[in-house]
Amino acid sequence: MAQNKDVLKGIKKLKEELNAVILAHNYQTWEVQDIADYVGDSLGLSMQAAKTNADVIVFCGVDFMAETAKIISPKKTVLFPEPNARCPLAAMITAASLKKFKSENPGIPVVSYINTTAAVKAESDICCTSSNLFKVANSIDSDRIIFTPDMHLADYLQSKTGKKIIPWQGFCLTHVRILPEHIRNQKGLHPSAKVLVHPECRLDVIKMADEVTSTDGMIRYARSSPAREFIIGTEIGLLYRLKKENPGKKFYPATELAICQNMKKIDLNKILLAMKNMEHQVRVPEDIRKRAKLAIERMLALK
Ligand code: SF4
Repeated sequence: MAQNKDVLKGIKKLKEELNAVILAHNYQTWEVQDIADYVGDSLGLSMQAAKTNADVIVFCGVDFMAETAKIISPKKTVLFPEPNARCPLAAMITAASLKKFKSENPGIPVVSYINTTAAVKAESDICCTSSNLFKVANSIDSDRIIFTPDMHLADYLQSKTGKKIIPWQGFCLTHVRILPEHIRNQKGLHPSAKVLVHPECRLDVIKMADEVTSTDGMIRYARSSPAREFIIGTEIGLLYRLKKENPGKKFYPATELAICQNMKKIDLNKILLAMKNMEHQVRVPEDIRKRAKLAIERMLALK
């Protein structure tokens, strides 16, 4: 505990010295969430990275998120305390495989989920997040869309749009662990609970939900809903924030199996070391960065 106190003190001191801001995803451990200046989902974190006045961004999430911060804010130093915290979904498509897919489906606009590498974003027309999926799809002047890399998100989009969605076959290893029987079991135990599900889940799980939304969407829903109990169909790290911000309400994970090990790789010691040594700086080649930024900016420009 004393050791933790010293680490916390060290991080706070370095934050002032470096004029640094700590951004953390909703799936980070509670310790990392508590030290962060801002905790949110991919869209919220991208917007924070775009508007911060800090010189240094310490990014606590997975690889593509830190890269996104660097793409948006190239003049800032972006530190990523654990370079091995990689998103397996983002790793399921490469720029070369997307180029080939595009050549097999010529002339069709490409929407890439924010969970992609900078090189894949650079090959895409526009990005989307789970918060703005439909807004992005509706903004495209085409009745066909190539969607990468998450096929479940693509299924969900397809179920709600008249456009033809041509999906890449990637998936989130964490969200596919949430199954219909998990929701049924929890509903049996907590019949009056509202079911909130992330759109990276399978469509049969999505169909059982009262609300399908991003992690920040779940935070907003839980805050404003008169319901007292909620079954949460996403990575279990979100429950910390939900419980902290809504002490009078109850939250149950759809399944404890929904845990993303990559999101748990960053800890306070690694944050301190990265700041102390200014190590693990994110770098994106300029030609890729510029093209990837266009795809992100088109998304951020949508009101
Ligand atoms: Fe990637 Fe899924 Fe983990 Fe998010 S929860 S970082 S999409 S594997």
